[in-house]
This record gives sequence, C-alpha cells and structure tokens, in this order.
Amino acid sequence: MATFAIGVDVGGTNLRIAAVDANGKILEKITTGTEVSRGREQVIFELTSSIREMLNKFRGSGRLAGIGIGIPGIIDLQSGMLHESPNLPGWQDYPVKEEIERKLGTTVVLENDANAAALGEKWLGAGNTVDDLCMITLGTGVGGGIVFQGRIWHGMTGMAGEMGHVTVEPDGVPCGCGGRGCVEQYASATAIKRMAVEAIATGRAPELARAMNEEPEFSAKVVYQMAVQKDEPALQIFRTVGRALGIVIASAVNIFNLPMYVIGGGVASAWDAFSPSMLEEVRQRSFVYRATVPQESARGVQGTRVHDDALPSRRSTIITRALLGSDAGLIGAARLPMISKESGHRMVGSSGQRETSEVSS
Ligand SMILES: [Zn+2]
Repeated sequence: MATFAIGVDVGGTNLRIAAVDANGKILEKITTGTEVSRGREQVIFELTSSIREMLNKFRGSGRLAGIGIGIPGIIDLQSGMLHESPNLPGWQDYPVKEEIERKLGTTVVLENDANAAALGEKWLGAGNTVDDLCMITLGTGVGGGIVFQGRIWHGMTGMAGEMGHVTVEPDGVPCGCGGRGCVEQYASATAIKRMAVEAIATGRAPELARAMNEEPEFSAKVVYQMAVQKDEPALQIFRTVGRALGIVIASAVNIFNLPMYVIGGGVASAWDAFSPSMLEEVRQRSFVYRATVPQESARGVQGTRVHDDALPSRRSTIITRALLGSDAGLIGAARLPMISKESGHRMVGSSGQRETSEVSS
C-alpha cells in the first residue's frame, strides 16, 4: 500500500491542504479562504474539517504517514504553543497543536511555515542536491528557515531561522517585532509598496504615481512591472531590496558557510530586478562568499535551476531562486511527518534515557 501524508499551509488569506505521496507527488490539493477575521475557532474548524475530508478520501487507498501543518508565527515546538503571529491576530499564546489534535483525535506535526517551505525546497526544489541550506521567503513579511543535514534546524525551542528580523539598518524603519531596520522592512511585499508610496510622496516618481492612481490594487507586483519597464524610481526600490537581502545573506554565509541560500515567496519572482544588487552586496561583504563563489560567471549559475551535473563544484556557495513556488510550504508540511516517523524511535529512546537519569539523580 502506498504511503501518503497530509500537508497543511495556513496563510493569512488562504488555507491550503494537500495529500502528498512518499515521492512528493501532490495527489490532491484544496484551497479555501481563511477567514482570519472570524476568529481562530472558525479557522481551526475549517482546517480540521478540510483535513478530515482529505483523510476520508485517501485513507482507503494508502497508509497515512501523518499530518504536518505549517503555520505563520513564533511557535514553541515543545508545547505546541503559538506565541505570536502577525498574520493571525488574536492567536497569541494559543495552544494550537493541542486544539487541532483534540478536534482531530490524532497527532499532528506543527512547524513554522517558513521552516516548512525550506524543508520543501530541500526535498523537491532548489535544494535537492545539497544537505544544508538557508531559505528566505519574501511575502507579506520575510520568513526564514535553515536546514542542516536534511532536517530543519530548530534551535532551542523551534524559533531559529528568523531571517526576516535580522537588522540591516541599525536605526532604520521600526518593525512589528519591536526592532528597527529588519530586512522585512526592506524586502517584503509590504515594504516594496511602502517604499513606492514614499517615493511618490517626494514627487520624484511620476510614473509610480500614475500607476498608483490607475491601479486600485497598487502592490509590489505593480512596482515590479514598472521596474521591468526601466522606471528609475522602481528600479531603485528593487536595488534597496537586493541590498538588504545581500547584507543578510553575506552574514549568513560568513556564519554558516552553507552550500546554498534560496530565495522564495511571491517577491522572488522579481529576481531579475533585485538579484544583481543582492549578489554584488554579498560579494562585497562576505570574504567567505568570495572564496567559494561559483567558478562559472555568477550570472550563469546563480538564480537558475541547479542540477547535479551543473554544479561547478560541490564547494561553491549557490544563491538561487526557489523552484516550488507557493507549493514549497505545503510540500514541506507534508514531508514533516514522513521524516519525524523515520526518527521517531530514536527520539523516544533518547528522551526516555534522559528521564531515567533525571529520576535517579
Ligand atoms: Zn523585525
């Protein structure tokens, strides 16, 4: 019997559920609107009923590996508590894992959504040729995930990898996290829109001003379209995006010396606009990067699909685009129970030992 897992990606606007087989093939995917404004009980209800629906459909045809759920916010993995989520107002200190498990009558694996996306890219996306990677997801906010030896690196409580809140401007724009000048304030879709509005306010961005008047849904996407048309103020905004990302990646390269850094999320589709300044910034700021820069011209390797045989050397630092698009988090969420089962026995064994020694001491 084939094995499958259920992956769930909880977003601020969408709730997506998929049944995924052991090879990563999406058997079925459903997307529903998350009515965050109707409160967490409603979201949990929609989430658990969709999971149940998917389970009923596939239970007869395969063995369930488990249910993995990617959720935006700061999660304490041990308690399954969601501490804070900018996309899910009213969920502070909410025992989300316990609530879902109680409603479903079965265990689930909970994970931060950006961590899940990093795992997805490692499994089936840009990172499938490497063991370690760091992923930065550019959406409404900026998320991050670090994968070491094929597994998400959780830190002490599951909160590691918050790349979006690394400081790039010490006295910069205030951030929702309480800091200032976080990369999220310069490289998220929200930040791109804000920078466009700021540029318009100076009176020196007439084309952007016109676009804002014409487009009721003025967004980062519109700013990118202006950049494609070589509008200088729009290009300048994406240089700022690239510079901010470059500063963070240069630090990550210096700290971790990983083989791959992946940029994903909706804003990553503006790669052409921000990657030249990003790569230049990394080159200037990281001597580790300069020592491991791919042998071919950086432009030929960076940002394109990296096949095994295309890697100039296993010892190069690759900075590239994500390949799974908006499915990365969903696929990564489905992968969670598959790999936590593999390690389940060992984990039970080691914690059991620790408990024994604590009792005897
Ligand atoms: Zn921040």
